[in-house]
Amino acid sequence: MPNPSNLSGLDYRAEAARFGRLPAPIVDCHSHVHGRRAVLLLREAMDLYGVGEIWSMTSLEQVDAMREVLGERIRFIAVPDFGAKDRRTAHGPQFLERIRAFHAQGARIVKFWAAPRGIDLGHDAGDPMLLRLDTPQRRAAMDLAASLGMTFMVHVADPDTWFATKYADASRYGTKRSHYEPLERLLEQYPNPWIAAHLGGSPEDLDFLSELLSRHANLFLDASATKWIVREVSKHPRERVVAFLARWRGRVLFGSDIVTTDDHLEAKSEKTEMAAKADTPDDAFDLYASRYWALRTLWEGREAIRSPIADPDLAMVDPSRYGPLDSPMLRGMSLDDSLRTTFYTEAARSLLARSAPPAVAAARA
Ligand SMILES: [Zn+2]
Repeated sequence: MPNPSNLSGLDYRAEAARFGRLPAPIVDCHSHVHGRRAVLLLREAMDLYGVGEIWSMTSLEQVDAMREVLGERIRFIAVPDFGAKDRRTAHGPQFLERIRAFHAQGARIVKFWAAPRGIDLGHDAGDPMLLRLDTPQRRAAMDLAASLGMTFMVHVADPDTWFATKYADASRYGTKRSHYEPLERLLEQYPNPWIAAHLGGSPEDLDFLSELLSRHANLFLDASATKWIVREVSKHPRERVVAFLARWRGRVLFGSDIVTTDDHLEAKSEKTEMAAKADTPDDAFDLYASRYWALRTLWEGREAIRSPIADPDLAMVDPSRYGPLDSPMLRGMSLDDSLRTTFYTEAARSLLARSAPPAVAAARA
């Protein structure tokens, strides 16, 4: 079976040389970095593709190990213990402890995950509201993070393809738009910067994103989630995407949403969802490097090509036309150097500068 991260049989190590040198290293502001061996492969992909720094939702238990490999190149985003059996504790009082612990490790961003799938997790935990964005527990976490001067990262909504299929039951999942109502209220109540992940959950609708950005001056977007972003951004005319990024210059940050884990490095008798994506070191490298290859080709390329990354959403929406190894068109946006540098590097740097480092905050107090 072909590697779903490398349908065209590319040599992602050799391919990296085809990309031009950048004036400044890329900041990848959205990732999930884990695994002592996997992170070495990620570091190689970062070096090859000009990524100098990565912001990661690493679990607290792996922060030290990941920093041993990436040093100052990795910054951490505070997350709850997603693997915990007792979700009500993990997302409640224990999250407050974790925010403090992450902050002490230098984290200046905290993640509030409120994807529609959270409704299912909440049902399983006996509290369907558990992972809504505006519960009292979430607000307690937001109050704490705001008092520490942290930026909020939020995942709201999901692809239109999912609302058309697995979330089609609106009585359970709500409409896609309904997921933005609590977000917009909270953006008013917490004036600190917010980063809405995956182009705010709506890369399908740039006009809607422009409305959100104009209503909320504290809102930023990250452009992470490679398959989703490649599929949907490529559907827009290039001029519209460039005009959008130019209008919101400094408010949109580059990201990949790469997930690394040692599970990607070996074959398992029983495949978890993660291990299914790769099961040898070579395939794990392709999994990580393909994301930077595809994203740099999307933002810098000049042609429309078939994406080398399989996108199962195509078959999910239309199984009569597509199979699980089909991939969408990838249309190069050929951003000019100046806009590209803002998007790749400067937007993240200036956003980070807005969250006060602890030493400075302490000196002022
Ligand atoms: Zn993510």
